[in-house]
Amino acid sequence: MSDNSLVNVIGFSIAGALSSISLLKEGFDVNVFEEHGKDNPVFCSGVVSSNGVNYIKKNFFNPMKALERKIYGADIYMGDSLLRIRKKEPVAYVFNRAVFDELARKKAEKLGANVYYNKKLSEKDILELKKPIVGADGPFSTTARAFNFPPIGKYVYAFYTYVKEKPDRYVEIYLNNTFHGFFGWRIPKKDRVEVGFGVTKREYIKKAMEFFNEEKWRGSVIPVRLRKKVEKNGVYLIGDAAGLVKSATGGGIVFTSYAANALSKALKERRSYENMLNELKRELFIHSLVQKGFEVFSPLNYPFSNLLKVLRVDEYLSKKGNMDFPTKFMSLTSFLKHVLQI
Ligand SMILES: Cc1cc2nc3c(=O)[nH]c(=O)nc-3n(C[C@H](O)[C@H](O)[C@H](O)COP(=O)(O)OP(=O)(O)OC[C@H]3O[C@@H](n4cnc5c(N)ncnc54)[C@H](O)[C@@H]3O)c2cc1C
Repeated sequence: MSDNSLVNVIGFSIAGALSSISLLKEGFDVNVFEEHGKDNPVFCSGVVSSNGVNYIKKNFFNPMKALERKIYGADIYMGDSLLRIRKKEPVAYVFNRAVFDELARKKAEKLGANVYYNKKLSEKDILELKKPIVGADGPFSTTARAFNFPPIGKYVYAFYTYVKEKPDRYVEIYLNNTFHGFFGWRIPKKDRVEVGFGVTKREYIKKAMEFFNEEKWRGSVIPVRLRKKVEKNGVYLIGDAAGLVKSATGGGIVFTSYAANALSKALKERRSYENMLNELKRELFIHSLVQKGFEVFSPLNYPFSNLLKVLRVDEYLSKKGNMDFPTKFMSLTSFLKHVLQI
């Protein structure tokens, strides 16, 4: 590894922390630059699929000290129908995202990450860093700008707030003409409920806030398309900087964890990071088709929702659904067998 054994990582939220852990485990030295202190602001509901949690536990750190609630399914209010998805085992876990990130950062520091907090790098600073460079600096990545990466094709404006309600074991999802191009949600947290929504057009924000009739919203953007390039001459993008988010759910943590391992292996074995993401890219493509479906059908208020009910799509998803990898359950044969009960 010799001359390339030091990796400079920009950003020490979840993508920076997971990349650092994986790189350190592969034997690299890691410098990390983080604009904020240890309390960098996070905008996240903290939902991670059970499979994702197992993967993170096995490969990175144990997040269970940050656990707030286990989720056993979803009530999806779609157009005029309600689809109920129920699982016997937890399908996802809801974490306190600030604590989750703190645990990840501690693990990276314990493994030897050399972290510079309160150090915001400009484009010029980044251009002067020695490569390899990992841009884990979020949806408005300065690293991507500095090295002229292609832009992120689409963002969702996402907001949330908390209400004093008894939390349940299920999330609620609202797919209707209020939430243009995305959806609204209610997510049970430890001792309250998070309500939130995403929309793809600014003009829908006010209407969506009125739907929940709440105040004190916090918000950010979710990139919902992968950049056309995430690797360029020794510079690598990961997490929101790359647009590595499942656009049908808005979840960025799980695929970023897979990408962090792909990145460290690519550097160690001098392989193409871009190629190592091919499997994730296929899944992201299907997610993006579903999100495109939200854009087409939300203004029409999902006219086919009753048909989905008749086809017992909720039963199918309860049996086969997978929050991360749509190719695992989107099989026409398997769905037809379900509908025809054979
Ligand atoms: C409302 C909302 C709800 C969400 N809910 C979920 C969910 O339930 N589950 C899920 O998996 N995902 C969720 N997401 C997505 C998830 O939050 C993101 O995918 C994830 O936080 C991306 O992490 P990141 O490390 O790539 O970027 P960020 O969290 O944006 O971190 C980037 C870091 O880089 C630092 N930085 C930026 N620029 C510089 C610079 N120039 N110099 C130094 N440091 C810099 C920042 O300070 C920051 O710490 C949600 C997103 C939103 C907006």
